[in-house]
Parts: sequence; structure tokens; C-alpha cells
Amino acid sequence: MSTVSAVTPPKVASGRITSWRLLLNNRLAAAGLVLIGLIALLILLVPILPLPDPDATAPAERLKPVLTAGHILGTDQLGRDILSRLLWGARLSVTVGFTATLIAALIGSVIGIVAGYVGGRTDNAIMRGIDMLMAFPYILLALAIVAALGPGLMNALYAIAIVNIPFFARNVRGVTLGYAHREFVDAARLSGKGHLSVMFTEVLPNVAPVIVITMSTTAGWMILETAGLSFLGLGAQPPQADLGSMLGEGRAQLFTAPHVSIVPGVMIFLMVISLNVLGDGIRDVLDPRLRSGALARPGPVTEIATDRNVPENSAPDAALSIEGLETGFRSGDDIIPAVRGISLHVKRGECLGLIGESGSGKSVTALSVMGLVASPPGIIQSGAIYVDNEDVLAMSQTRLISLRGSRVSYVFQDPLTTLHPMYPVGRQVEEAIAAHQSLGANERRERAVALLEKVGIPEARERAKHYPHQLSGGQRQRIGIAMALANDPDVIIADEPTTALDVTVQARILELLRDLQRERGMALLFITHDFGVVSEICDRVAVMKDGEIVETGETRAVLANPQHDYTKRLIACVPELGTGAQFLKRVAGLFPKQQTEAS
Ligand code: ADP
Ligand code: MG
Repeated sequence: MSTVSAVTPPKVASGRITSWRLLLNNRLAAAGLVLIGLIALLILLVPILPLPDPDATAPAERLKPVLTAGHILGTDQLGRDILSRLLWGARLSVTVGFTATLIAALIGSVIGIVAGYVGGRTDNAIMRGIDMLMAFPYILLALAIVAALGPGLMNALYAIAIVNIPFFARNVRGVTLGYAHREFVDAARLSGKGHLSVMFTEVLPNVAPVIVITMSTTAGWMILETAGLSFLGLGAQPPQADLGSMLGEGRAQLFTAPHVSIVPGVMIFLMVISLNVLGDGIRDVLDPRLRSGALARPGPVTEIATDRNVPENSAPDAALSIEGLETGFRSGDDIIPAVRGISLHVKRGECLGLIGESGSGKSVTALSVMGLVASPPGIIQSGAIYVDNEDVLAMSQTRLISLRGSRVSYVFQDPLTTLHPMYPVGRQVEEAIAAHQSLGANERRERAVALLEKVGIPEARERAKHYPHQLSGGQRQRIGIAMALANDPDVIIADEPTTALDVTVQARILELLRDLQRERGMALLFITHDFGVVSEICDRVAVMKDGEIVETGETRAVLANPQHDYTKRLIACVPELGTGAQFLKRVAGLFPKQQTEAS
């Protein structure tokens, strides 16, 4: 057999999904972008378009309807060309709206960053001021400001900017608070940077996405507010046209010549709706929480290639058979394989160990069984999974989902991340029961307590009321096992259930799993990277490397006479007491040269 080849370096994802692609994937946002692009192009080109003077009156041409020769959108009550006024007016509204957004964003962000970064009394004083601004209905506040400053477009702009400052200040302060005392900010301060420079170079880049998000979601509003003030006669003054004043002037002719007010109304509608859907799209792309969640939210079942090869079940009496499984991850147009055609069988009452170093594809194998690999990007390209000789991958989604936890259940590595922090553990075990059995509340509670006793939790009835953080690591893992047992599954897949525990607790959990498995005659697929653990609990073992099974056999036989170099390495990794330095030499000798150097 050949020596272990150097691990192939992971392929660099060629087509990493860029923010831009993500944005365009969102059809609504893309439509908004196209519309806004068109409007922006038009209003940029207004000065060079062959349009009549927007303010030139022509009493003889009053209230011409839409599609009149020379006046495509007709004329208004003073005979002015509506198309020309519309484009010039839109230009003005957009300019005012965006300028107000920029001013509000600039001032609001500075206030927010300073308040969040400095904290204490400064923060308190600033935020109470902001609260006072927010206590007024903001259109009223804008009206009051314009009334004080006097009507006019510039004053409307100031008013709108001022009333929107609190939104930016609050949002930005909240995010800044989260960063102000992070280690990298403290490190920058300790390195001698001044506060101003820390705010600019450390805090601002982290807060910038929030500022952009708030801007993109409020720009549409600001245009509306500008139009609102002009409509009331407090913004643009005649004869200057902006969308709001056109709407206001058209109001008098609403019944005789509706087009005079409908045209600017439609324009406002289109602008605001396209800005809003685009803003929502930008927010989705830039918000890191949404980025990993909502936009690429995994489906309920792993994607299964329709042209997958379905091999026969070569062990029809096994509780679980994996035949020729190939699972990969999409990256751009490529699929990077993680599991490359493996076959495994676990009989009833048997424990099969799946062992391999980190990254060899053990977890992906385990998750593939119940279609739990997140898709996108995961995809099962080929192979079949038989639970009781029935191909799971050919089942309907609902059927497959109903098998999870009832026929096949999982125990995962870190029970603290799999348990809900806000519910008592007993309740979580009850929930596992309720997912598959309809029992009365009392009966369910009794079952949960019995399960907790079964997995060796002392004073189970009392403990059931405790929250996960009140339990020790070993106890939490016992809860995990209780949940896996809740519906008497035929197969339990345990993915490194003891890796996070210390050695004595690990031994007790292993014993528990082995006893339960024997007592209930379950099939156990036990995943680990530790041959010591395998030797304690597994009847047979399969050794996995780079997505392939390189060796299988009875545990004792493999331990006594490993065939593959990689197996020998893994076995050599089990330290014996009192052989410290020798052990390191032995392990080092078994690794290919470049790996030992790298590590
Ligand atoms: P382990 O044997 O340690 O459990 P895994 O099965 O988790 O290893 O991972 C096997 C391979 O699959 C690794 O190379 C890993 O990078 C890759 N992989 C796992 N999950 C994903 C994912 N969501 N996206 C892309 N690649 C993944
Ligand atoms: Mg793993």
C-alpha cells in the first residue's frame, strides 16, 4: 500500500458569491435597481434632453391631455410641459432627498459613534437629547422647523435632515456599543492610538455597513417627506417644480385634468418603491446575520442530485447501510467533494466506529444519512442510504423529516450549542418526545424524567427544571443522549459525543452509550478521531481519510494488525502512560515530512 500522500490543498473557491451577485439574486432588489438606474439616468440627462423650459407658461396650451403632439405627458393649468417639469422636478426631489439623507447620516453617525464609544455621562446626555427629538411625531417636527425657518426648499432639506438624525444616531450607537470594548479596540488603544483615530480606523469600518443599511432604507422616506413638505407649500416655491409641489398644484384639477397630479404621483410611487426594495436588498446583503441566514437559508433536506447512482443494498438486514455515498459542496459552478463514494453497514445491536482525523468527512457522512447537510452549498451527488432496507434519499421530504429523531437520531459533539439556553432541560427532552408522539402533558413529563434517570442524571425530577448552563458538560451530554433516545430509535449516530469532555467523564458517557445500545439492540454509528475510544466501545471500525474509507474490520483485528499506514498513524496517536517523549517521536515519524514541519 502506498504511503500517505500529502493532503491535497483545498480548492480555492473560484466563484465565491459576491455581495453584488447576492443582491442581483434577489429579484425584487434587482428590479428596484434597474428602475432606479433608469430614473437616475433620466434625471442626470435632463439638462441635455430636448425639453421645453419647465417654467415657460403658455395660456393657450392649458391642460392639454396626455399624448398631445409636442407634450407627451400633456400640460398643466398654466400650459407648462408636464414631462419637462416632471424630470426637472424629480431631479430636484432626488437631490434634496439624498442630500438630506447624507447630512442626517453624517451627523447621526458621528453622534452615534461618539456616544457609543465614549459611553458614560456623555452617552447619557447625548441620547436623552436624541430621545427628546424622537418624542415628537416627526412630520410635525419637520413642519415646526420649516415654520420657524420660513418656507423654501433649503429649509425643508434642513428640517428633513434634522428629524432623521435620531434614527442614525440610535442605530449607530447600538452597534458601536457592541464594538467599543472588544479586544481589537482595546489593543489599538494600548498600542498608543488616540481616541479619534481608534474611532475612525477601528470602530467606523465595523459600523459602516449599518450606516449604509440605514441610509438605503431611509432614502425613500426622505424623498417622500420632501414631497410632503412641498405639497403643503413649505418646500419648493413657485414656479420651481419638484414632485411634491406638482402634486399640490395638480390637486385643484384632480377631476377635470387628473393627469396633472397623477403623473407626479406615479413618479413618486415608482421612485420610493424601487428605493425601498433596493434598500431592503442592500440590507439583506450587508447584514452578516442575514447573509448567513435568510438569503442562503438551508432547505429542510440536503439537495439530492436527480441523476444520482442508486446502488443495491449489499446488506439488506443491516439497520443502516450507506452505499456509494458521495457528498460535496457547491462553490460557484464547481462541486468540491467531501465524501467520495463510501459504503458502510451497521447491524442491529452493533457499534461501528467511524474514525479519521479532523476534516476527513466523518460529520458530512453522518449528516448525509438524514439529509441534514446544509444545502446550499451541500449536495448528495450519488449513492443510497438504506434504513431498514428502505432508501431514505428516495423518500418524500415529509417522510424523511419524520424519520429524524424517531428511527435515526443524533448525538452531537457540543451539547451546549445544541441545547436551547432559555428552556429547562426537562422541557427540551419533552419537546423531543412531542415531536413524534402525541402524549398528554403529564405522561410526557413522566417520560422525560424517566429518560433522564435512564441516562444517569441524579435527582432527575429536580434536575429537569434546570437550565443547560446549570449542568456540567457530562450532564449536558447525558441530556443530549436522553433526547436521542426519546423516541426509541433504531439507529443512533453519535458525532464525537465525548470529544468536548474530560477523560473520566468521557469514560462514563461511553459506558452509558454502550449499555443503552446493548440493552435496546440499537445500531450505533460512533464517530471519533480517537482509537482509544473506538477500542472501548466499537465492535467494528471503519477508517476514513480524505472522504474515503481506507480500511474496515473488527476492532480487535484492526488494532492488532492495521493494514493501512494511516490506520497505523491513528493507532500510534493513542498515548500510553509514561511514554511522553517517545510518544512524540513515534507520532512524528509516522507523519509525512511536510506535515510535521508545518505543525
Ligand atoms: P470531520 O471529519 O472533521 O467531521 P467534516 O465532515 O466536517 O470533517 O468535513 C469534511 C470536509 O467537508 C472538510 O474539508 C470541510 O471543509 C468540508 N465542509 C464541511 N462543511 C462544509 C460546508 N458547509 N461548506 C463547505 N465545505 C464544508
Ligand atoms: Mg466532525
